[in-house]
Amino acid sequence: MPQQPVLIVGAGLSGLSIAYELQQRQIPYLVMEAADHAGGVLKSLQIDGFELDAGPNSLAASPEMFAYLQQLGLGDKILMAAAASKNRFLVRNHTLHAVSPHPLKIIGSKYLSRASKWKLFTERFRTSVPPAGEESVSDFVTRRFNKEIADYVFDPVLSGIYAGNPDRLSIGEVLPMLPRWEKEYGSITKGLMKEKGAMGGRKIISLKGGNAELAKALLDKLQTPVKFNSAVNTIQSTASGYEVGYIENGTLSIQEFSRIILTTPSYSTANMIAPLDLSLAGILQAVEYPEMGVFHLGYDAKAIGNPVDGFGFLVPNRENLHFLGAICNAAIFPEKAPEGKVLFTVFTGGARLQHYLQAGDPAVLRQQILSELSQILHISAAPVMQHFTILKKAIPQLNVGYSHLRTAVEQFEQTWPGIHIAGNYVEGVAVPALIQYAGQLADKISKN
Ligand SMILES: Cc1cc2nc3c(=O)[nH]c(=O)nc-3n(C[C@H](O)[C@H](O)[C@H](O)COP(=O)(O)OP(=O)(O)OC[C@H]3O[C@@H](n4cnc5c(N)ncnc54)[C@H](O)[C@@H]3O)c2cc1C
Repeated sequence: MPQQPVLIVGAGLSGLSIAYELQQRQIPYLVMEAADHAGGVLKSLQIDGFELDAGPNSLAASPEMFAYLQQLGLGDKILMAAAASKNRFLVRNHTLHAVSPHPLKIIGSKYLSRASKWKLFTERFRTSVPPAGEESVSDFVTRRFNKEIADYVFDPVLSGIYAGNPDRLSIGEVLPMLPRWEKEYGSITKGLMKEKGAMGGRKIISLKGGNAELAKALLDKLQTPVKFNSAVNTIQSTASGYEVGYIENGTLSIQEFSRIILTTPSYSTANMIAPLDLSLAGILQAVEYPEMGVFHLGYDAKAIGNPVDGFGFLVPNRENLHFLGAICNAAIFPEKAPEGKVLFTVFTGGARLQHYLQAGDPAVLRQQILSELSQILHISAAPVMQHFTILKKAIPQLNVGYSHLRTAVEQFEQTWPGIHIAGNYVEGVAVPALIQYAGQLADKISKN
């Protein structure tokens, strides 16, 4: 009897990469995707010679990532970031301050007060008892350093990664090395010195044509066509496996599977698994996915009076601006803009600023961002290209309480063998983490 395919729900990067890994191990699979296209949040577009990414703009480079891209036939599309990509900036009082990925180097900059520099320098000599249970990033950093360091260093950095709110993000989830360093070395700065490189400074890459090329290449490699326009809505247990109900082009169909991998966002997964575990469904439904706006702006290079030779800049929430930060795409990947032009990808919304998207007039918000950007970068002319993308539910927030979710997912997988709950809210939001997990899961399945 032919082996029953593994059902993969969702054809975002998680679903596609898991399907590819199963295929590599000769395990039959079927991918169902609600939309009429693959890639999930990976979206690239070309406007007037500018190459825009509304999802991931850059990928952390590693020998494994290079090998993977080569394997997918994307070797000649890899764009290496310019050396300047190591330069990062933070905004304070409408001014850009260069900061190193190494927080200790902040001591030499004017970005922080003397009191905070002293706190940084003396942190290794201070003892502090961590509270029982999970701690937020703000509480952890304020306890180890002070409020200014929480507000002006960690807040913007976590806006850059999660568009999150450090008052709610769980330190153990988003920066797990920090509590580990506190435990192992008694100090964050000591841990940082011992494990140099753990806090960034890694090389980054992007793909010619946009990072959605990655989803396109994976899709092209799959020998079993993805079943598009097929939204899974329920999973019920049967004597021999699971009955999956899905709406295909408006019609309800049912099919049985014994192994299912759910790579959908938590709020979608919640609906599917509700008939099996109402309590987990509630936990998954409660994960915060704030709305985000991605504002692409192209300018004549000569209009920028204060050009940024670096990856980009992040804005602490206390600066009260209308955006979270900006990537200076053309400074790191000159191929992303036509000759003589520059490209910025500006992020707004997220856990801190989504009220601007939800309540106000989007045109007014865009105007406010343009004006604030002009002040910081001394811009003397209007953009030659602009494009605004709204992502209604962008990045899952790994907030305090997340360990509860992890325990509930683990228990669910034990109770309902054959169902795996994956996706970026479980395996990590960065693309390389999802690709790595796909290989691990396929290995696990091939051994069973
Ligand atoms: C604005 C932004 C910037 C980012 N920047 C970076 C970056 O620079 N570097 C980096 O490494 N990462 C970045 N990320 C994170 C990374 O892109 C994502 O974590 C990753 O792409 C998520 O992939 P996924 O497959 O897990 O989820 P998704 O992309 O959300 O895919 C889930 C899929 O499931 C489908 N689906 C939903 N419900 C159903 C259903 N009922 N039935 C069937 N299918 C369903 C959806 O249509 C979708 O295709 C960024 C993310 C965002 C949003």
